[in-house]
Amino acid sequence: MRGQIITRSGDRLLVEIRDKILRCAQRKKLPPLTVGDWVTVEQDSASTNEGVITELEERSTLLSRPDPFNQRRKPIASNIDQLLLVTASEPGIDQLQIDRIIVAAEASSIPLSIVINKVDLLSQDQRNSLKDKLKHYQEIGYPLIWISTLMSKDGEDDIEQLKQQLDGRCSVLVGPSGGGKSSIIKTLLPDGAESNKIAVGELARSIKQGKHTTSVSTLYHLNGYSEETSIIDSPGVREFGVWDLDENTIRGGFREFDLYLDQCRFSNCRHLSEPGCAVSKAVDNGEISTNRLESYRGLLEE
Ligand code: GDP
Ligand code: ZN
Repeated sequence: MRGQIITRSGDRLLVEIRDKILRCAQRKKLPPLTVGDWVTVEQDSASTNEGVITELEERSTLLSRPDPFNQRRKPIASNIDQLLLVTASEPGIDQLQIDRIIVAAEASSIPLSIVINKVDLLSQDQRNSLKDKLKHYQEIGYPLIWISTLMSKDGEDDIEQLKQQLDGRCSVLVGPSGGGKSSIIKTLLPDGAESNKIAVGELARSIKQGKHTTSVSTLYHLNGYSEETSIIDSPGVREFGVWDLDENTIRGGFREFDLYLDQCRFSNCRHLSEPGCAVSKAVDNGEISTNRLESYRGLLEE
């Protein structure tokens, strides 16, 4: 039977097979599995809701993070179509943090949009000045979506744009704690996600005695959208992007520099303080955001 892993906690996996959910272990020959994986399952017997995962289908994308105890990276979620970076003026919008997450998104080749939540806390003036400060993200291809989970009056925010962006895709919310990821998921999941509620309920019971309660990752289907629309909520991505990055990975996160690379005087220019640096010049000319160059240099220094 073919199914998709919708919940993982420690080595407990829940696999959704059409409208049925099985608790599964995985065959040892398989790599570590993760939420979003499509797998083949053998049910123990028709009467139980337990099974064994025997095959893993090829993943279209994989989010992973370094594992301090192991050479191999730890999978966080798979088959994701996009990342939604959620941040807000409260607790604060940190452009270095945004750029770090962009670097990690580019390294995984997953498209990213930036969701600025809590616009209800901003006056019109504050909103305009923030829009101006962040508009370079939009210009280099990362959509900016302004929302509030509290207030959603017509035309006051981009909640419709967010819904369109979600439709038909599997999304993962990332970003600093307190930005509103859980609140957004709550807003999007009114009473619809029947099978998921059962899954989460069952898992919660089965792991009550364990200590992993806070590390449960779950895939939710969104009702009222196309069939493939889902959101993966994973505490593993809380820290997304804060791990060590190598220089090549960092370069990959600053796509707007690419246009200038072959104009730097030195072919191995790192755009720090080299003479004849075309990237620095583009910043002076207002073609590249000063903040982005500062982030790039900051990340290299780290
Ligand atoms: P998470 O850590 O990213 O999951 O953030 P939460 O969803 O837990 O939200 C953090 C806090 O921000 C909570 O106290 C929410 O009630 C609050 N919050 C979430 N969305 C909004 C919003 O649109 N406006 C305001 N003013 N507060 C919000
Ligand atoms: Zn340069």
